[in-house]
Amino acid sequence: MKLIQTHIPGFPRIGAARELKFALERFWRGESSEAALQEIASNLRARHWAIQRQHGLDFVTVGDFALYDHVANHIQLFGCEPARFAFTGEESAASRYFAMARGGHAHESCNCVHNGAALEMTKWFDTNYHYLVPEFSESTTFELNSQRLLDEVAEARAAGHPAKVVLLGPLTFLWLGKERDAAPGFNRLGLLEHLLPQYSRLLMQLRAAGAEWVQLDEPILGLDLPNAWRNAFEPAYWLLNQAGAQLLVATYFSPLEENVSLACRLPVAGLHVDAVRAVSELTSVADWMPAHKVLSIGVVDGRNIWRTDLDATLATLLPVLAKRSGPVWLSTSCSLLHVPYSLDSEASLDEEVRPWLAFAEEKLAELALLKAALSADERVSGQVARGFAEARSALANRRASARVHSAAVAKRLASLASDERASRRGSPFVQRQKVQRERLQLPAFPTTTIGSFPQTQTIRTARAALKRGELPAAEYQQAMREEIEHAIRRQEELGLDVLVHGEAERNDMVEYFGEQLDGFAFTANGWVQSYGSRCVKPPIIYGDVQRPQPMTVQWAEYAQSLTTRPVKGMLTGPVTILQWSFVRDDQPRADTAQQIAAAIRDEVRDLESAGIVIIQIDEPALREGLPLRRSRWDAYLGWSTKAFRTSAAVAGDATQIHTHMCYAEFNDILPAIAALDADVITIESSRSAMELLGGFASFRYPNEIGPGVYDIHSPRVPGSDEMAELLRKAARVVPPAQLWVNPDCGLKTRAWPETSAALQNMVAAARKLRAEV
Ligand code: GLN
Ligand code: ZN
Repeated sequence: MKLIQTHIPGFPRIGAARELKFALERFWRGESSEAALQEIASNLRARHWAIQRQHGLDFVTVGDFALYDHVANHIQLFGCEPARFAFTGEESAASRYFAMARGGHAHESCNCVHNGAALEMTKWFDTNYHYLVPEFSESTTFELNSQRLLDEVAEARAAGHPAKVVLLGPLTFLWLGKERDAAPGFNRLGLLEHLLPQYSRLLMQLRAAGAEWVQLDEPILGLDLPNAWRNAFEPAYWLLNQAGAQLLVATYFSPLEENVSLACRLPVAGLHVDAVRAVSELTSVADWMPAHKVLSIGVVDGRNIWRTDLDATLATLLPVLAKRSGPVWLSTSCSLLHVPYSLDSEASLDEEVRPWLAFAEEKLAELALLKAALSADERVSGQVARGFAEARSALANRRASARVHSAAVAKRLASLASDERASRRGSPFVQRQKVQRERLQLPAFPTTTIGSFPQTQTIRTARAALKRGELPAAEYQQAMREEIEHAIRRQEELGLDVLVHGEAERNDMVEYFGEQLDGFAFTANGWVQSYGSRCVKPPIIYGDVQRPQPMTVQWAEYAQSLTTRPVKGMLTGPVTILQWSFVRDDQPRADTAQQIAAAIRDEVRDLESAGIVIIQIDEPALREGLPLRRSRWDAYLGWSTKAFRTSAAVAGDATQIHTHMCYAEFNDILPAIAALDADVITIESSRSAMELLGGFASFRYPNEIGPGVYDIHSPRVPGSDEMAELLRKAARVVPPAQLWVNPDCGLKTRAWPETSAALQNMVAAARKLRAEV
């Protein structure tokens, strides 16, 4: 039998009890020293390495830790902090680091204006993790100038662990950045030749420091790469390989496709592949890989929380192992950054669902079992057999559970599928628009907001007390009704045309719905880092989704009863609920989306019967669900827009359906946005000064649009002239009769004083525009 080794591409860093989050926030508030923060960080690393070793991994992973973000670590490591921060050289590494991450770099001694806005943040591939975007220009220089990584290797070695260091590969690092303050025509790939010597220097230092392996992450090998980028791989790695360290190139998240042979041929000691998302490529990878190289197979899913089917995994692995004479490592598909820590801290998790799951620590145990089984280690054979038997029975229970499969849902989905009209509104938009205008009698440039109003301390305290069982449900209901009434009165005073109830009763736009739907489970501690100290706790969709009873109707009815103006019913769309949850792996995402769509459809129908005339179905996550490979976009956009339409199309012509999306960059999916066929879409546009609308205009987007006229992400209150000017700009590219006036996004993170002031100016701006036409 073969000697199999195990490792992981990376481990979560926030801490099982979110220790890093709290330490960071204490430090930022000035309540603790940097030394105290660093000590907590160092303890976390030590603990995480110990856990990896307890589960028999052959190397611990060093370099996956970051105080804020691992890409920001690389910016500092290679000394390419953007010049616009105007660091004087006097600042500590930590203060420069947090200035890049959070902005607001303050020079205490001078009043000069520094261009110190934080680095832009964007999604890490198709995950919900956000990284800080490196900025490159022709004047970018690289200079290895951080001892941090070497110190971490020393820490691991001092604890007696064999160390594998992880770094972003040079091509992925450049790819993830963007050109800024650069000359026209500048291409950041041109920086590669300056960057590589610094990588080489680092690799030599790491080797001297005792790192046994260096993993270089190049997930961009799973993207549609321009040829210049593809062609840069071989020469770059030829050079890096000269540094003498053992290099493992790691790919994940997406099939390699046309890059399979390139990846296998790279002149390095090993290659890691994602055998969950790209399992169909495994055989060809094994064929292409030269025998002397290490093939690291990521068989345990690093992106989801389900227990691995160990028997099926062995069945996948055995033929590969039989063919391969060279060394094999087993691993998780990608870093465990994207899953919660451990099931241990879940005291109140649904008892039936719990055995079906594996978080980061349980995934390490799965690797240990697979390794033992493949090594036919007699000393542990009893234990291995028990582990396999346990996994087998958990999986069998999951497959057979009545909680997972509902005949009623299957029937409902079949009937929706057989009715072509189920995903189409009764009449085309122009006809609906006419009926809706007659019914609603809104002025030109109608004003509205995106849904939420400030989540005040009072609201949060009430909800926390309800959860602890200290506030009776009836009293909580009453408190929320008062909040709704307050929001309605304020909106009437401000003179808004289409009102909202304010979402006071919602903790989170996905969790609120998940808690009321069948098929969802919730964790107490299943935190996953989103960015910096921010974590999210995604719900787990384990079974067929259905809506036992109305979810929002009472609140909407109550809000509408308080006013003669229309109040929008407010729902989260099926794609966003799907995208921000851990989803089932036993049926296609498209099917789960359609089940959620059916539940939202029921809610739309009930809101309509309750007399709600405008219903908004938010889909801020539609774009982020796009697959990494363009060849898969059409399929995704096909089922995702259909899910939205299925939820909306039950509404009659006279009911106006709104949708809302934030996070810009819609231009490449405009046909899909049009395919949603929402009567009105509100989008984020103020930060790009309406540039976004150009795309909608040249595409001749047919329905009505509300481009955000002010940025809710900052407490700044823009004047009415500024907003009127943005509206004039919008009215030059979009027919004025199609325009709505609204902020960029919901107002839940803001306070009332700035909210009222900004909305007052917004209404004044709309009135100006009305007077002009
Ligand atoms: N209706 C939600 C709100 O106003 C929309 C939030 C979002 O787009 N992320 O809060
Ligand atoms: Zn938004």
